[in-house]
Amino acid sequence: MNMDVDDSRLPSAGWKQAFRRRLLSWYRRHARDLPWRQTRDPYSIWVSEIMLQQTQVATVTSYYPRFLAALPTVAHLAAAPESQVLRLWEGLGYYRRARQLHRAAQVVVHEHAGEFPRDLPTARSLPGIGRYTAGAILSIAFDLRHPILEANTFRLLARLLAYRHDPQGTEGSKLLWSLAEALLPARHAGTFNQALMELGSTICTPRNPRCDVCPVMALCPTHAQGLQAKIPWIKPKRAVEAVEEVAIAVRRRGRVLLVLRGGEGRWAGLWDFPRFALDGESSSREMLSRLTELTGIRARPVKRLATIKHGVTRFRITLDCQLVEYIGGKASGSAGVEMRWLKPSEMSDYPLSVTGRKLSRLVIEEMRTAVAGS
Ligand code: SF4
Repeated sequence: MNMDVDDSRLPSAGWKQAFRRRLLSWYRRHARDLPWRQTRDPYSIWVSEIMLQQTQVATVTSYYPRFLAALPTVAHLAAAPESQVLRLWEGLGYYRRARQLHRAAQVVVHEHAGEFPRDLPTARSLPGIGRYTAGAILSIAFDLRHPILEANTFRLLARLLAYRHDPQGTEGSKLLWSLAEALLPARHAGTFNQALMELGSTICTPRNPRCDVCPVMALCPTHAQGLQAKIPWIKPKRAVEAVEEVAIAVRRRGRVLLVLRGGEGRWAGLWDFPRFALDGESSSREMLSRLTELTGIRARPVKRLATIKHGVTRFRITLDCQLVEYIGGKASGSAGVEMRWLKPSEMSDYPLSVTGRKLSRLVIEEMRTAVAGS
């Protein structure tokens, strides 16, 4: 038990027992048949947990089997080139997760003989594995008694305590982790944890929770007080910011220039068309001189291929997609930036962002049409 939390703030033994009984009986009847629930293999559970961070279940169900078919064991993942891992992840976003999963697989293979560590501190020392993910993998794969808290269970447990403050602030977080731990049954912690998440994601939803069919309605103070719309407390969102960017497809004798994004940023490891922020008033001359600064290439404009609008966190990005024709210069760019001239057919082997992939399709179509018309 967390020594910083006063036990009187937690429910009684009788409440906890009734809660477990109701929750587990409901879960036996209503658990969704999800692919990662068919296994106790720690690697498969780990992959699913990383994919499910910040991504909807429906999206993960299509990526998960494809990823495991290509990389069925932790040894396959550790030995795969990063570009293959990112290509399999393409479209899931938050690529840092994939890079960390890849690095962690290499640690598991090289330092733990390919076995996922069973003790919490060692599991948590792996790249990309925090308290929640470690608890989920250890409880589900090995039935070890570790609590979990993620977005759905933070909300559910805040409502079960009628906790009106920030559930993810220092005090709220301590209190709710203590509750998650106190609720764990002596055995089958993994099933219990999954049941909690299932209730949070399918019944105790952020808006309009389905209290009328909730198995723990009789135990819930938030329902009794009609506070569902007020609990949990939600941090005010930061204002959305509009950003204008340009992505440039440079064409040269049937090939197109792609740049490898480096560093540790959000898109590191992905290939992309030269891309930069632009102010709305920039002329095409300014755009081309920025292209030369970035890549060493001189080009002339051909046409606008599309305008793509998309969102990344709080940014609403308008992406102006331009096709230009190479006229001179050697692809060099700033130190350490890797660039390649690719045939359209080669682009499918390279991991791209979602907008990069959309633009690549437009470029392929454009080049096909140009060949057909020549
Ligand atoms: S009764 Fe309503 S608010 Fe309480 S746990 Fe169930 S769904 Fe959530």
